Amino acid sequence: MQLFQNQQIKIYNSLSGKKEDFKPINDGYVGMYVCGPTVYSNVHLGNVRTFMSFDMVFRYLKHLGYKVRYVRNITDAGHLENDADVGEDRIAKKARLEEIEPMEVVQRYTVDFHNILNTFNFLPPSIEPTATGHIIEQIELIKTIIDNGFAYEVNGSVYFDVHKFDETNDYGKLSKRKLEDLIHNTRELDGQSDKKNPQDFALWKKAEPQHIMRWPSPWSDGFPGWHLECTAMSTKYLGEQFDIHGGGMDLKFPHHECEIAQNEAAKGKTPVNYWMHANMLIMNGKKMAKSTGNFILPTQIFSGENEHITKAFSPSVARFFMLQAHYRSILDFTNNGLLASEKGFNRLMDAVNDLDNLKASTTTSFDLMEWKQKCYDAMNDDFNSPILIANLFEAVKHINQVKEGTTTISSEDLIALKETMHTFVYDILGLKDTSNEGVGTDKLSSAVDLLIKLRQEARANKDFALSDKIRDELANVGIQLNDGKEGTSFTLN
Ligand code: AMP
Ligand code: ZN
Repeated sequence: MQLFQNQQIKIYNSLSGKKEDFKPINDGYVGMYVCGPTVYSNVHLGNVRTFMSFDMVFRYLKHLGYKVRYVRNITDAGHLENDADVGEDRIAKKARLEEIEPMEVVQRYTVDFHNILNTFNFLPPSIEPTATGHIIEQIELIKTIIDNGFAYEVNGSVYFDVHKFDETNDYGKLSKRKLEDLIHNTRELDGQSDKKNPQDFALWKKAEPQHIMRWPSPWSDGFPGWHLECTAMSTKYLGEQFDIHGGGMDLKFPHHECEIAQNEAAKGKTPVNYWMHANMLIMNGKKMAKSTGNFILPTQIFSGENEHITKAFSPSVARFFMLQAHYRSILDFTNNGLLASEKGFNRLMDAVNDLDNLKASTTTSFDLMEWKQKCYDAMNDDFNSPILIANLFEAVKHINQVKEGTTTISSEDLIALKETMHTFVYDILGLKDTSNEGVGTDKLSSAVDLLIKLRQEARANKDFALSDKIRDELANVGIQLNDGKEGTSFTLN
């Protein structure tokens, strides 16, 4: 018996605008696709928030016993500066500015993305496909859409015919837009003269001579449209219809709307049963975004080096800060918010650690089972992590009261409480005890400083075997010693 048989999740479906009972297509299995990053710059904290929301969803589904295939792509081609098919490819532009190969840009920022997500204790997705690795699938998809009469070629580029599609299907159903309104509101942009209508979007773009990221196709040497890659990869790995598709709110239109249109045009089926959209992280009242300079990098949070914060915060504190807001609510990034989260996080972790030393009695003076179900109810209600956290603080109150001797817990319940707290805190929220985390931790620094001192003594005594052993063994566990003029410091790898 799996937990999901007793715990019914409700998901807010952006398509219907309602919370719906979650029923996967195949009993016990979940297919989930989340749009990944365009790897042309370092991920900022806003990007991290969206991916964290889906990491929490992934963790909870797994905890309930679902076999989840979680696909999160890497966009390494086709994403132009402007969503309306104009401007330079973001990766090619970066490559040009830095005078390196586009694939060097891709490699650098994919590694950065993985490092940052690891630091935040994300679970890796089951499959992480790249757009450039699926050019053939994208070309095949375009051929099908053309054959079905929903796309046309002009001068080596292929465009999706939105007007034709809307005659039989509903373009705009996800973002609640009507084609007439779009027609009214679309500005003519330079370089779009090939399109029959400005609302049409590119499936394939012919590459200009200077465009380096190009592939042969039946229409031209060119590159695929950004929306197409997600359709090609989600279909390939999850099928023509799958359970959950996620991404940030800002991707709803045009990106996700176009994904639906492509799938329906190619396969005649609407691809996704539950569309989930995570809300934005804002700072100074504006969306955190690379393009406006209104952003903060995760590494700046860990080092404290940013004008918006007064000190460094550990990844778990930043994670806790984000999960204290519901994924569909806007979250305002502030120093005070982080300071408050740090206090709360420490109180929670102290209580979790205190569970190891609590004295059990013969009876329990609170209803453990009821509390536990309240924790599940919170997560079942569209992954309501702030309510879950409020419930965890209910338990913190009891733990502290047992510690003070004002309430009691039986040894059996103590084991159950500990197990439940660990499940929700570590497995589902993905938090880590900062004292084991190695970032901003005084204990770790003191221990390594002691080893550095012992190594210096060994060197002074010409015991190089010992000094090398200390350096190498530390390197083996990911702590690198750096000898410099001012002495020895260390970095964590
Ligand atoms: P990009 O690499 O620009 O495609 O963005 C990657 C993901 O981050 C997308 O799902 C975006 O919706 C999301 N995102 C971008 N800015 C923010 C923000 N300020 N808050 C939350 N998510 C964001
Ligand atoms: Zn996508």
